[in-house]
Amino acid sequence: MKLVCVGRNYAAHIEELQNERPDEPLLFIKPDSAILPREQDFYIPEFSQDVHYEAELLVRICKVGKHIAPRFAHTYYDAFSVGIDFTARDLQARLKAKGLPWEKAKGFDGAAVIGEWIPKSAFEGRDRLTFTLEKNGEVVQRGDTGLMLWELHELIAYMSTFFTLKKGDIIFTGTPEGVGRVAANDYLVGSLEGTTVFTLNVSG
Ligand code: ZN
Repeated sequence: MKLVCVGRNYAAHIEELQNERPDEPLLFIKPDSAILPREQDFYIPEFSQDVHYEAELLVRICKVGKHIAPRFAHTYYDAFSVGIDFTARDLQARLKAKGLPWEKAKGFDGAAVIGEWIPKSAFEGRDRLTFTLEKNGEVVQRGDTGLMLWELHELIAYMSTFFTLKKGDIIFTGTPEGVGRVAANDYLVGSLEGTTVFTLNVSG
């Protein structure tokens, strides 16, 4: 299984990192070895001095699909959650400067936190979802899918023209503004529409 991730999908986050706004969705993939097992602490890897949290809405694919039309995209996922796309920002900056792929900065072991799944039926009729990330008791990121540059169904259609989506694949839909560094002993809490879907300790 794979994690298909979207970069630069919220205007305010593009501005905070002074990135260019893309003309089409920016995609990258994390390997399944990046998934942090539930109940495990996140260990800051020794190759980075600047690991950032990026809280994102997650979507679980429930059947195989290729060249999915936007109007059918809703039939290809069955659950939502919130997770973290951990990013070694210093390493990513060095790779970006050389025009090299980001994999090492985003695909390392433990770099993907996946919260508990909530069936999409729980949100029937909602056209936008909100999520938050708290760090040490303070909200540091607030996401609202209504502010995404590309909405979910467009993203699924676009991704599936390059990558066959398979049952169990997970989409990371991009992070809103407020990304920041983690330090040893930080405590992170992710929530979707007010329901806590993960808690996480950071170790140094
Ligand atoms: Zn991200």
